[in-house]
Amino acid sequence: MDHYAKPLTRLINELGRLPGIGGKTAQRLAFHILSLPDDEARSIADAIVNAKMKMKYCSVCGNLTDTDPCSICRDSKREQDIICVVENPRDVLAIERVKEYRGLYHVLHGAISPMEGIGPDDINLRSLMIRLQQHDIKEIILATNPNIEGEATAMYITKLVKPTGIKVSRIAHGIPVGGDLEYADEETLLKALEGRRSY
Ligand SMILES: [Zn+2]
Repeated sequence: MDHYAKPLTRLINELGRLPGIGGKTAQRLAFHILSLPDDEARSIADAIVNAKMKMKYCSVCGNLTDTDPCSICRDSKREQDIICVVENPRDVLAIERVKEYRGLYHVLHGAISPMEGIGPDDINLRSLMIRLQQHDIKEIILATNPNIEGEATAMYITKLVKPTGIKVSRIAHGIPVGGDLEYADEETLLKALEGRRSY
């Protein structure tokens, strides 16, 4: 991309580092941004910097939030004795969209993957165990993805939690195996939640 001026090359390179954005798309976006009025281009840049500065992880559940604890953890109308365990904040949004689940969440920020050298200590699991000790939790729903890593993580947590007497359930497999929870449609997610089976 040597034939582009440096600022443009830099913009294309930065955009191209985003997930799902290939070289061609990065170029198209860069040219689009340059064609915008100044204030619109600045507004995009501002939104990125502002979100990056204000958003953090909830110290209780690990969800992305601009307040700590997050609005879900602070909502006393939600069922306080049930925790849905998910891999990432996008999964929380997916389940919230279904508007059926009224309990709390715990975000692991990943899944156990021996292949990639990700062990139990590398995900947000310790804080879940502390929550289970400190609060009167009746059930945890394991809503990790239906792939090898998600299943391994669900099994690991089940082994840890089962002896405490807390009910452990796994969402049903309406979600295609190998698929991602966050991309499941609402109907499928609803069925997966309702059809959860206990271990
Ligand atoms: Zn929270």
